Amino acid sequence: MVRIGGIQKTTLIDYPGRVAATVFLIGCNFRCPFCYSAELVLPEKIKEHPQIPEKEIFGFLKERQGLLQGIVICGGEPTINPDLPEFIKNIKDLGYLVKLDTNGSNPGMLKQLANEGLIDYVAMDIKAPKEKYEEAVGVKIDISDIEESVKALKEGKVDYEFRTTVVPTVHTKEDVINIAKWIGPAKNYFLQNFRAEKTIDPKFEKIKPYSEEFLEEIRKEILPYFKVCEVRA
Ligand code: SF4
Repeated sequence: MVRIGGIQKTTLIDYPGRVAATVFLIGCNFRCPFCYSAELVLPEKIKEHPQIPEKEIFGFLKERQGLLQGIVICGGEPTINPDLPEFIKNIKDLGYLVKLDTNGSNPGMLKQLANEGLIDYVAMDIKAPKEKYEEAVGVKIDISDIEESVKALKEGKVDYEFRTTVVPTVHTKEDVINIAKWIGPAKNYFLQNFRAEKTIDPKFEKIKPYSEEFLEEIRKEILPYFKVCEVRA
């Protein structure tokens, strides 16, 4: 059983080119201070947050067959759930395309899902350049896991994007350029502007996001590393 903390019943933006619904799974192994989803990440907040039974989700998915094309599985971090493959298989059995949003920390499961034909699109967050990764995600990690996931996506058959939420005080322009050099050349890379809303570390709620012009300036510099590189509002 996976633990489900929410559902967005229709989205036109979360799954590129598809009308989709988004399912939010509970739990994450990272503690990015700028994270907007404390209720899915911090154990003390998770306790207070209502869970949705799987049965209810599948009831909804059955009702919407033929109306929605895809389901986005995000979190938290979906791949920390050992039952994720089975959960996705049940969704695919209803005829949906599945997009996985992941922090890339579980390359083993990512490859399993891809090999078993359970995912049709992956969006992997790249949180920082290699040398600043642990600072950005707030926990000790094995950077080789991130690199293995990047490699698996670049060499695999599943459509994918890498993306970075660009946060003042965490990322400089140089940092984003270093990310591009590290993961590039690659297919799709999106820069997302930080939104100063409820964050795991309240200090971030006061941070003023970079201007669109500044992100555009960075985009132009890293363009050669990607087939598609865009700023996402
Ligand atoms: S931003 Fe994503 S990876 Fe980071 S703590 Fe939040 S849910 Fe986890």
